Order: sequence, then structure tokens, then C-alpha cells
Amino acid sequence: MIKRLQILPLVPLALLLALLYHLNLSSDTPNEQLIAELSRIKAAGNSTDAELAKHLEQLKKKLPSNGFTVVIQQPFVVIGDESPELVKEHSEKTVKWAVDKLKQDFFTKDPTDILDIWLFRDAGSYERNTLTLFGEKPGTPYGYYSSTHKSLIMNISTGGGTLVHEIVHPFVEANFPECPPWFNEGLGSLYEQSGEVGGHIHGYTNWRLPGLQAAIRAGKVPSFRSLTAFDAHAFYDEDKGTNYSQARYLCYYLQQRGLLIRFYRQFHIHQKQDPTGYKSLQKILNTVDMRTFKKRWEKYVLGLKQGFEVDSLPPSGGK
Ligand SMILES: [Zn+2]
Repeated sequence: MIKRLQILPLVPLALLLALLYHLNLSSDTPNEQLIAELSRIKAAGNSTDAELAKHLEQLKKKLPSNGFTVVIQQPFVVIGDESPELVKEHSEKTVKWAVDKLKQDFFTKDPTDILDIWLFRDAGSYERNTLTLFGEKPGTPYGYYSSTHKSLIMNISTGGGTLVHEIVHPFVEANFPECPPWFNEGLGSLYEQSGEVGGHIHGYTNWRLPGLQAAIRAGKVPSFRSLTAFDAHAFYDEDKGTNYSQARYLCYYLQQRGLLIRFYRQFHIHQKQDPTGYKSLQKILNTVDMRTFKKRWEKYVLGLKQGFEVDSLPPSGGK
């Protein structure tokens, strides 16, 4: 810890210490914890110490009450009104874990701006404080990412899954700005139910499965050509109820075949020639006949069970 602290420039460190002290990280935050927060601040990356200090100064002015704990978890600042222990636990076990694992497999760049992650302790706090801080009512009971407010705004009482989902979005924005909605949401929703397998982040089957299976049985799932071509309006506003789940279980299928990371890289490299990812998908699946693939995928999805896996392959990162 001492070694890590020594690499920090002296003045910003002093400034941050003073600021964090004023922020009243929590009245019972021991110095040890404060030092631990600071040890994580690194001069590297997109946000300098000075920017972070300025950001914290602004944050201090808008904290809704003294009951909030602030934890620096680069590239984010986590702010929550649960107990200091719980806020710290979420920032380490969910935020840091997800950031580390997502960067390991997908992303090289941090979001350009310092982003706040607001973890409100219950529905009341979530609704009240979202209105006070951002002047809006949440459109979802779980939480969302707002690039306008440079914030992830979460009702953390609904669990950490949505938080991991939303963490994916600013990383996609920073690393793949032209990413179409299907892959942005497919990847986000894949990891809303995730754990670690072989040292990698791994999505599991979840609550989106039964609805998708019903739509498959009813023959109501669009072709992959359509799904991948949907713009934001078509994907979000005209969703017939399967866009998220179809995208999620396509990503899940690729993951289970050990192809997801390779697909991402292929798609990312060739995005100019193939903005929807459809051709990269054909290449990775080694087929041009996507109708037959869809039938195979549908059969596969119908055989899945919630919280159960049959055929996981280790992820293959390619080169
Ligand atoms: Zn999303």
C-alpha cells in the first residue's frame, strides 16, 4: 500500500485527502479505509488526479444527504446510501470485478469521462433521489445508464445484475461507439446474470429465457438479419418483446461455443464494412445460411433451462 501511495503526486494527493475528508466518506469511516480508497487512485488512464479532485468537489455539493458513502473505484465513483460496508462491498465485488473481467476479454479503453454510479438503497430512495439529482423519473425499477448525466443510476435493492449490465454500456460507448443496439444490449444483458468461469466473466441462463422460448414456439422471433440491422428506434421503441432476449441468447450461444470474444474482435475490426455485425456473425459461425442457423439456434434455446448449463466450452480469446 505504501508503495502504491508513493507514486501519487504529492499535491493532488493532499488535495484529495482533504476533499475526501470533507466529503465525510461516512462518519465512521476509519482512516485505514480512506487510505485504501486513495491507494486505488492511479495517475494513469483518462482521468487525472486533478480532474478527479474537481469531480469530487462538485459531487460534494450535490450529495442528497450525509448518509452517502463515496468510494473511488476507477473509472467510476461509487456513491451509495446503504451502510459504508455494503457500498464498499458493491464497489469491490461487483463494480471492480466486472470492470476487470470485461477489460480482460473485451475492452481496452476506459470511459472518457469520470462516471458516477449511484446505488440507492431501496425503491423510495431511488425514485426520490433520481428526481432530486437529475430531474427525471426512472423508466425502470432496476436502474439505468444515462450518458447525459454521466451516471449509472441504480436501485441496488433489486440486486447487482442490472449494475453489471449497465456497466457494459459506457465501456461499449468508449470502445465501440458505432456498436448497434443488438450487440450492446446482448452483451449487457448476457452479463446481468453472470459469474466467473475459468477466470473469465460468464453469463448464465436467466429470466429472459422463458419469454424467448414462448416466442420461438409461436414463430415470432425475427431473423438475425433483421435483429442485427435494427437501429435504436427499431430495437428499443418497436420491440415486440424479444429483442433483448434474442440478442442475449445469441451472445450466450456464442459464449457457449467459445466464440463470443472472437466474434467481438472480428466485428470490432470490420465494423466499417459490416456495421451490423451480420457478416462477422456468418464468418464466425462458418455459414452463410442464416435461416438454417436460426433453426439450429432455436432448437438449442428451447433445450436450455434457467440456471442450468449443459455444454460450456472455455472462452477462446483468439489473438
Ligand atoms: Zn442495456
